[in-house]
Amino acid sequence: MDIDVDKLVKAGKIAGEARDLGASLVKPGASAREICEEVEGYIRRKGAEPAFPCNFSVDEVAAHYTPGLDDDVKLRGIEVVKVDVGAHIDGYIADTARTVDLSGVYEKLLEASKAALERVVSIMKPNIRVYDIGKAIEAEIRKRGYKPVRNLTGHTIDRWTIHAGTQIPNYPDRATFHKRLRPGTLVAVEPFATNGRGIVRDGGLVNIYSLIPRKPKYKLSEEEAEILSYIQEHYKTLPFTPRWLLEDFDKRGIEAAIRSLVSKGILYPYPILVEAGKGKVSQFEHTFLILEDRVIVTTCKECV
Ligand code: MN
Ligand code: MN
Repeated sequence: MDIDVDKLVKAGKIAGEARDLGASLVKPGASAREICEEVEGYIRRKGAEPAFPCNFSVDEVAAHYTPGLDDDVKLRGIEVVKVDVGAHIDGYIADTARTVDLSGVYEKLLEASKAALERVVSIMKPNIRVYDIGKAIEAEIRKRGYKPVRNLTGHTIDRWTIHAGTQIPNYPDRATFHKRLRPGTLVAVEPFATNGRGIVRDGGLVNIYSLIPRKPKYKLSEEEAEILSYIQEHYKTLPFTPRWLLEDFDKRGIEAAIRSLVSKGILYPYPILVEAGKGKVSQFEHTFLILEDRVIVTTCKECV
């Protein structure tokens, strides 16, 4: 991976602050849209860009919800809320998340994924086995009576690429037995814990997309071409949300263009991911920069 330590550390600091700002706004009566706009605005004011839309996934929604053009989530004060934030500077990305419990009864569920991430912080080192990370995560979650989510994983990160080649499962997956995290790797680790089945499935709703870098096979309308070049220029291949296009395009035009660009194979949709047993889901996440002789947890100021 192309490494710029200064930019990665700065992006990590901003992402961490934006995550904590978002979490501090999670209160009864608040809406996902208000909070996500604050989070994304904070990232921009600090001199970075969102690396993906602010994810605000509630209860059994494990990941990939962000407010859409029409939909929003208003908090009642009984929810388990995951705030998952990404920031980048010149494509150098940080990815981090935490969970807030408004219900007052899921503190232990949060503790399971939080303790799992803290274990990973304590064992992370150059050349660590991916298998050993998954083993530590699963152990911390199971001993608190919960299950890890098996089909949501951490991931290596490249410049301009949020999900690079290697997945970091939240359990000891035999397929990762010989895989090690070499110096020069940037990696996000994100334990998900649940009281449900431990599997997520496609929940249908899509408010996040990314550009598939290939030449369009089909002819585009003028408006589609205009929106496509806007996406290329502003987000490259990083995930974005149609909400961000409202500054420059009208809602009907955005909806039509997105629908068409998905059907033409130019945009990749990220549907919300919902726990298969309708279990509550908690998540904590940090980004780790693995160097020759040390590890920097870019999104954690307490971790040094
Ligand atoms: Mn994340
Ligand atoms: Mn991630």
